[in-house]
Amino acid sequence: MPLLATAEPLAPAAHLKTKLKEVFGFGQFRGTQEAVIQNILAGHNTFVIMPTGAGKSLCYQLPALVLPGTAIVISPLIALMKNQVDQLAAFGVNAQVYNSTLTKTEMNRVKKDVIAGDVRLLYVAPESLTKEDTIAFLQKASISFVAIDEAHCISEWGHDFRPEYRKIRGIIDNLGGKIPLIALTATATPKVQLDIQKNLHMDDASVFKTSFNRTNLYYEVRAKRNTKKQLIQYVQQHKGKAGIIYCLSRKKVEEVAELLRVNDVRALPYHAGLDPHTRMHNQDAFLNEECDVIVATIAFGMGIDKPDVRFVIHYDAPKSIEGYYQETGRGGRDGLEGNCLMFYSYDDILKLEKFSKDKPVTERDNARQLLLEMTNYSESSVCRRRQLLHYFGESLDKDCGFCDNCRHPKEKFDGTEHVGLALRAVVQTEARFGLEHIAQVLLGLRNPHIDSYGHDGLPVYGQGKTLSGDMQLWLSVLRQCLLNGLLEKDIDSIGLVHITEKGIDFIENPQRITLTKDHDFEAEKQEEEDEEKTQQAAGHDEALFVQLKELRKQVAKQKNLPPYVLFQDPSLKEMATTYPQSLHELTHISGVGQGKAQKFGAPFVAAIKKYVEDNDIETAADVIIKSTVNRSKLKIYIIQQIDKKMDLTGIARSQGISMTELMEEIEHICYSGTRLNLDYYIREVVDEDKQEEIYDYFMTATTDNIATAMQELGVDDFSEEEVRLVRIKFLSEVAN
Ligand SMILES: [Zn+2]
Repeated sequence: MPLLATAEPLAPAAHLKTKLKEVFGFGQFRGTQEAVIQNILAGHNTFVIMPTGAGKSLCYQLPALVLPGTAIVISPLIALMKNQVDQLAAFGVNAQVYNSTLTKTEMNRVKKDVIAGDVRLLYVAPESLTKEDTIAFLQKASISFVAIDEAHCISEWGHDFRPEYRKIRGIIDNLGGKIPLIALTATATPKVQLDIQKNLHMDDASVFKTSFNRTNLYYEVRAKRNTKKQLIQYVQQHKGKAGIIYCLSRKKVEEVAELLRVNDVRALPYHAGLDPHTRMHNQDAFLNEECDVIVATIAFGMGIDKPDVRFVIHYDAPKSIEGYYQETGRGGRDGLEGNCLMFYSYDDILKLEKFSKDKPVTERDNARQLLLEMTNYSESSVCRRRQLLHYFGESLDKDCGFCDNCRHPKEKFDGTEHVGLALRAVVQTEARFGLEHIAQVLLGLRNPHIDSYGHDGLPVYGQGKTLSGDMQLWLSVLRQCLLNGLLEKDIDSIGLVHITEKGIDFIENPQRITLTKDHDFEAEKQEEEDEEKTQQAAGHDEALFVQLKELRKQVAKQKNLPPYVLFQDPSLKEMATTYPQSLHELTHISGVGQGKAQKFGAPFVAAIKKYVEDNDIETAADVIIKSTVNRSKLKIYIIQQIDKKMDLTGIARSQGISMTELMEEIEHICYSGTRLNLDYYIREVVDEDKQEEIYDYFMTATTDNIATAMQELGVDDFSEEEVRLVRIKFLSEVAN
């Protein structure tokens, strides 16, 4: 391994390759890396658009090693800086951070080293750059170039705007001399790209753009319905493989992680609300394959380079296509299998829209525009890859054949006339309007703009209605015109579209064009809900239920126990609905814990198995989901306190609930199959003879009903609390 890399004059290609091998251990450059590096070495401004994982940072790290002076790297996240500096240190490169996390002494040392020319790369946060002190220091240093990482933060139109990024140009001008710039980003639409270049005054930059086409990723969008069931099913199909599930809120993250856990998936949560230790532990567990699935907010994944993530699921709709692309991009980094599934519901979009309600107008409008693009993508039945690439300014001539819309095509129709009409509407409204307005004109609707511009007098006004189609269809036609290059988004005014040469050609000389209809997820959701209701109404398999009841009677007799102790009716009904065929599956039934399954489960499981075989019942496709609902925080607390033999009145008081409420909670815990040992408390409050009498009563009773018990035992001799306490003891010992 090399010692500290030192500055050298401009290097020929062979020398760069040696450096690449020597310092970073790579034998070859990837993609446009070498061209980018040569461009920087030649002192030109450089703009790099490269998807995550394509080797972006090397583009500035390597030239920093061969150019004299220190390269300044502006990066938005302190955690990421630290990470990169550590990696470089491991390669023997002197890289330093300069930000608010340093002490005064450390700052002084870094300054001294930079001015002495010992530091190859200096990572700075944009906030620190605005400080006069920092500028004064940098003016004394010899700077090779400035790299601006995550450059999309500059653009208000991007998904990650940071106001302090807009000051960068001014600061660099203050540093004196003509310092070459390199701006890098993993996501940039043509509009964002233009905005970045304008803001950094680097219109002259050489632009290097790597294709956004990740051919090994399979894109899929499903309606958000029965989502938990779909999720478990999906994860079980990918059992043992690494996956990331993104949720919108911390609460949802916890919920989904718990849901997976109780369904035997090795899953852990990750979000900013966890304490740093747990967060680090969970992240490491994922990297070290001690857990398969990480459930996270979008805080997770930055700077993580796990090559074999096999699926990325968006449990909630993302805020922008940029975010979606970046997050799905964490799948299949090694070029092998990568499945990207998103659950979509328009409700999610509305929820996200509410988040930006209190933001300044421009920011809010922009957020809405990003969401609109997300909605369009999700609801469209056009090839997903074509849409994604189009969004990032690339075009794909034909459908990819490797996405849900390609694999399961929706109804297609001859859209020649529709397209012609839509294009004429854009021309007649003089390219000064967005898609919605154009669709409204076509449908002959009224709105203040239509009135004031006199659009009701246009030849196309109302023609869309005559030809057939509603709002959804016309918006979809217009979007497909964009995808086919017949219309183009206006780069200066967000939301506006204009016609292209190709579009004008089409009007003059129409070619047959096939369009697809959008998905109607709302309708699909509705249908499914109806279906669910009918299923529920149909309920359990009555024949099996009767058999199981009979079996319960027999087994109870053998064991000399009252039947209700084995399984209660609701549990049997659930068995007759989901057909559990192993003791493990049996524990998924509500009211059945491990103990109960072990004690009484075997004959039931055997009977169900035989029944399923005899009647040829298809159950494999049906996933049984163990619910997490009956384990609230309160219940967990109560179980823990009882384990510690805490006084019940004390538990009730500490939780601010009445004794009656506490008893109800405890009974609920007990009836869901958890064994509780209350002996320590019962001993104190119920005398031994009474305990025995109540216990014996339940052993021979035909029901565990408390009113019946009180009647049989005698209200004068026993209090209800005594009977209920002993009933818990009895059920815990005999039934659970
Ligand atoms: Zn496709």
